Amino acid sequence: MSRLRYSSTRDSSLQVSSSEAILQGISKDGGLFVPETIPAFAPGELAQLQGSSYQEVASAVLSRYLTDFSQEEIDTCVKKAYGSKFPEGEAPLAALKDGLQVLELWHGPTCAFKDMALQMLPQLLTVANKKAGDGKTILILVATSGDTGKAALEGFCDVPGTEIAVFYPQDGVSHMQKRQMVTQAGENVHVCGVDGNFDDCQTGVKRIFTDGHAAAELAAKGMRFSSANSINWGRLAPQIVYYVYAYLEMCRAGQVAMGEPVNFAVPTGNFGNILAAYFAKEMGVPVGKLICASNRNNVLTDFLREGRYDRNRPFYTTLSPSMDILVSSNLERLLYLLSGRDDGLIGRLYRDLSDSGRFAVKEEMLGRLKESFAAGCADDAETSAAIKEVYDRSGYLCDPHTAVAFKVYGEYRAATGDKTPTVVVSTASPYKFPASVLEALGGELPGKNDFSILSSLEERSGAPAPVALKALRDKPIRFGDCCMPGEMFGWVKAVLNI
Ligand SMILES: *Cc1c(COP(=O)(O)O)cnc(C)c1O
Repeated sequence: MSRLRYSSTRDSSLQVSSSEAILQGISKDGGLFVPETIPAFAPGELAQLQGSSYQEVASAVLSRYLTDFSQEEIDTCVKKAYGSKFPEGEAPLAALKDGLQVLELWHGPTCAFKDMALQMLPQLLTVANKKAGDGKTILILVATSGDTGKAALEGFCDVPGTEIAVFYPQDGVSHMQKRQMVTQAGENVHVCGVDGNFDDCQTGVKRIFTDGHAAAELAAKGMRFSSANSINWGRLAPQIVYYVYAYLEMCRAGQVAMGEPVNFAVPTGNFGNILAAYFAKEMGVPVGKLICASNRNNVLTDFLREGRYDRNRPFYTTLSPSMDILVSSNLERLLYLLSGRDDGLIGRLYRDLSDSGRFAVKEEMLGRLKESFAAGCADDAETSAAIKEVYDRSGYLCDPHTAVAFKVYGEYRAATGDKTPTVVVSTASPYKFPASVLEALGGELPGKNDFSILSSLEERSGAPAPVALKALRDKPIRFGDCCMPGEMFGWVKAVLNI
């Protein structure tokens, strides 16, 4: 098979192999790596995958993208990442009474969909480092709006040859999310709050990555940076798998016949999850509309409707903190693809974004966006109402992120009359946000303690909470540091003694 190269969105001539793309995380010029062609399924190939296990689908999809990995290496990575880590199945599809399907992506160790990729990325990185690396210890820096941090910590915990440092907005994550991170076990894990919001964390991490001086300092100590944020191709590729798998499951369940389209409604923040769905579509999975659901930070809703991206607006902390984002990094990859890989254009748009906080695309590009995407948003009141409505209607308990997708899908369907079978992508266990969910159902909060709230929610719904969350109560707190956005690299050096 010919080797697939990956090019930077801001300079198509900057090309690397898949292992280099995964090792580098972000391209030297600040662009993101995109495969030079999208490896589509040949006619009949998708149908042949019917009846395959999640792991088999994962091997089939990943081997098309990671062409400098051997099949055996990919199979080993897949085996280590999935299976026993997901005792209830990697991506079960739940059928609701009203005909909607819910793709539950939160049966991994941290109860959020980030596990789907972050159990895999450390495996891919370790192999890539052997292939294309220089034997240096990999330092993973993560900016998190809540779920990525814990999932990355869990994925990298005690993986040989790696260190991981996670930054989260001090007041921008839920109590449960914070608790998950500050109790993380492992010798190679480091956690710090930042006095700022998620964008401050993300910008801080990006600045460290692109600062040649910091890289040189690290290299002198036998280390190199990499990223576990969804800008890393090694995060995105494993996410394509569950869209292929979900489509096959829809066929198996008789919801659609092979070849008929399925819509996906996706709770969206950094645009990684929904972009993976777009890749699945471009590979030949029959996808109708991708419905991009945002919370009150609705910068993507405006963009996908009007073609103007504008981050100059208030930043809100919401009930769905993992979607509290004003700069959705992965959108850059989509614009690159839709512009026919016009690196000059992408360079200009993202210079505009960094200079003025905004950019606009032409009518033609907006038209192409609208062919594949629809968009909508929900504020906190609407999110709570959706949690209650879904529960009352179908007995299904969903978390606030998933509730945003339910709400936006309902509006989309009413406005368009589109009756295409639709999968709502569920990105977190409701028990990760027990206070928001219990209040939405009209329950009284039994005080402030998350664990008694969790028990109340269990009693009310009759569905047991994940063991991993209940066990947090008895884990010792290991991390309590907080720094300013400008101090992040200094903090890393201090905890690593370099
Ligand atoms: C990260 C996250 C999202 C947003 O996903 P993106 O890939 O960043 O768009 C949505 N819901 C939950 C629960 C998340 O953890």
